[in-house]
Amino acid sequence: MDAFVYQSAPVRVVFGAGTIAQLPAELERLSISRALVLTTPPQERQGREMLDLLGARGAGLFPGAVMHTPVEVTEGAMKQVIALGADGLVAVGGGSTTGLAKALALRTDLPQVVVPTTYAGSEMTPILGETRDGLKTTQSSPGIRPETVVYDVDLTMTLPLALAATSGMNAIAHAVEALYARDKNPIISLMAEEGIRVLARGLPAMQRRGNDRDARADALYGAWLCGTCLGAVGMALHHKLCHTLGGTFDLPHAETHSIILPHVMAYNAPAVPDAAARVARALGAADAADGLYQLARSLGAKLGLKDIGMPREGIEKAAYIALTTPYWNPRQLDRSAIRELIARAWAGEPPQETPGA
Ligand code: NAD
Repeated sequence: MDAFVYQSAPVRVVFGAGTIAQLPAELERLSISRALVLTTPPQERQGREMLDLLGARGAGLFPGAVMHTPVEVTEGAMKQVIALGADGLVAVGGGSTTGLAKALALRTDLPQVVVPTTYAGSEMTPILGETRDGLKTTQSSPGIRPETVVYDVDLTMTLPLALAATSGMNAIAHAVEALYARDKNPIISLMAEEGIRVLARGLPAMQRRGNDRDARADALYGAWLCGTCLGAVGMALHHKLCHTLGGTFDLPHAETHSIILPHVMAYNAPAVPDAAARVARALGAADAADGLYQLARSLGAKLGLKDIGMPREGIEKAAYIALTTPYWNPRQLDRSAIRELIARAWAGEPPQETPGA
């Protein structure tokens, strides 16, 4: 066995159905007596219900979280934190809402309780991506990571199936890259394989029956495992490409992950045959890249970047940016192969292995 370093994160996780009822007690554990509840405009009603549930421990609601954590929004929320004398944050929503809680925690050191309602996984990471003047920058620090995460399957029952599909593929991407990360370790690899396995079981079952609580529980459990992977080890080409494409062409986050993942798997597979075998095994597929592509297809997810707003002329630019400040990757980055990978993803074609490692 190779030598490794494993660092566990001090996050308290409460998981189940109906767990939201424990929210007031979780706030008490953290000595939060005046919480500001955060959510997005479409989830305002859910946020208000959360505030009601908190009773005297709820100080107010900020339903203004948006994608990519713009600093103007954070500054607006900061004013409310100060005006209310808030001593804690409760985020109810997906990665966008969690991002706002993290940005506020970074500025105030207030404790955070996150209640995730998508599978993005941000709640398990010490990473914050913020946007200033249209430019997104990412930073990482232990203080950004939430103290407590309450996963309640009931709150995910309203997640539209199309969003659940791509959000689930986004989660799987964290686990795939964890299996071949430079700093991979056996514990995180166990979580990664199990995360892919339960998501590959839950997501199709959910598409067949939208109100299948067991399927939704599988997906949420998988999202926790995959988010833990993202927060524990470094990511590679897949995440770099998604950041580049999302930032440059303003593409939707989860859809971009879902489209790119099979193609990066095909590119990296020759360099990481063990990781590819584990991904395939978790998917119950003969081949990792094809298995990911078929999973996305069976979930009705969009398969081409052209279908989510990327112009054809962008292929060259994306290849250029992706190679300018690359992340570490298990396979050396070859410009023409990366360009070909993006072109295939743009057209929605099946992934194709490029020989050599
Ligand atoms: P999101 O949070 O923007 O949610 C998408 C939409 O779905 C929103 O309108 C939201 O209100 C709605 N929604 C969420 N849950 C719902 C539910 N249960 N029922 C009905 N509607 C619901 O999308 P996301 O994909 O979860 O997060 C994307 C953002 O998170 C991006 O900005 C991305 O960069 C960030 N992210 C950060 C990290 C990290 O570690 N820092 C990790 C993953 C994602």
